[in-house]
Amino acid sequence: MALSEFDLIRRYFADGFCGRNDVILGIGDDCALLQVPAGQELAVTIDTLVEGVHFFPGADPGSLGHKAMAVNLSDLAAMGATPAWATLALTLPGSNPDWLQAFSRGIGDLSRRHQVQLIGGDTTRGGLTITLQLHGFVEPGRALRRDGARAGDLIGVTGTLGDAGLALLALSGQYGVIDALEWVRRRLERPEPRVAAGRSLIGLAHAAIDISDGLLADLGHICERSGTGATLQLARLPLSPPVERYLAERGDWSMPLSAGDDYELCFSVPPRAQRAVEGAIRASGCAISWIGTIEQAPGIRCLLPDGGTLDVAAAGYEHF
Ligand code: ADP
Ligand code: MG
Repeated sequence: MALSEFDLIRRYFADGFCGRNDVILGIGDDCALLQVPAGQELAVTIDTLVEGVHFFPGADPGSLGHKAMAVNLSDLAAMGATPAWATLALTLPGSNPDWLQAFSRGIGDLSRRHQVQLIGGDTTRGGLTITLQLHGFVEPGRALRRDGARAGDLIGVTGTLGDAGLALLALSGQYGVIDALEWVRRRLERPEPRVAAGRSLIGLAHAAIDISDGLLADLGHICERSGTGATLQLARLPLSPPVERYLAERGDWSMPLSAGDDYELCFSVPPRAQRAVEGAIRASGCAISWIGTIEQAPGIRCLLPDGGTLDVAAAGYEHF
């Protein structure tokens, strides 16, 4: 049974997943009406997932819903913002109720966990494309920006790197991780945005970014915007057992450094705040690792565990 656009919106999206008292008018009119809380700045971000570009055709709809919300939450996390409202532009090849039910549940579960209300959107026919916009709040002047890193800062990251990249290699038949496949696949398809960790860095970190395009590229953005460079100690990179195994077999540092889709946070912290940041990140439920230092000289240098230097251009990094 084909649903009309209105039935589709009513059935799967109109409840907004959760109710917030800063929403004056949600889904159903020409515009949503919203009240930014007094004394807060509005943080806005948007991301698009295109079938065949950002996910495999036929991908699990629940995972797609989760990921569309997660990648945007990760951007808010990187600014230290608290999530609030979402809008959803959905382009669908048809109206398949099972697909919509699972997709809506994937978005909704994560929305409710972070108290995000869906307050509007647009629905059109065409190749499957999911565009989600998120709005959040942050204390004036306190957002974690990319441009605040200073020479001498320590570079920290949450979680582990390269798990999603390993899942992609395995799913595309380029590597057989058999025993850990379900775990790395979950890291690829159901990333947990580090919202509480990002919040906890406010007032402590000089700069932050979420790692969506790989550590080298994203740390490169911090360095470029801050007018600095960095040195990384690769022996300190936080790697899960399956990624450790992959590295031991292939010696391929470019995978954990550049594969992307990690959705961990990378931040620069003055040494005096090191212990406070460790406590704050751990209290948010994340692991933390110190992987290098911000320096004056531009470019990113990577020291290998054996004392040599990695050729970062060969590792997929072409920034400077
Ligand atoms: P208009 O034609 O005035 O833009 P629409 O008919 O597209 O309005 O949408 C009707 C209502 O449903 C609006 O409030 C809109 O924000 C909401 N809406 C449409 N598509 C979606 C969607 N995919 N998710 C959430 N809300 C949606
Ligand atoms: Mg419309």
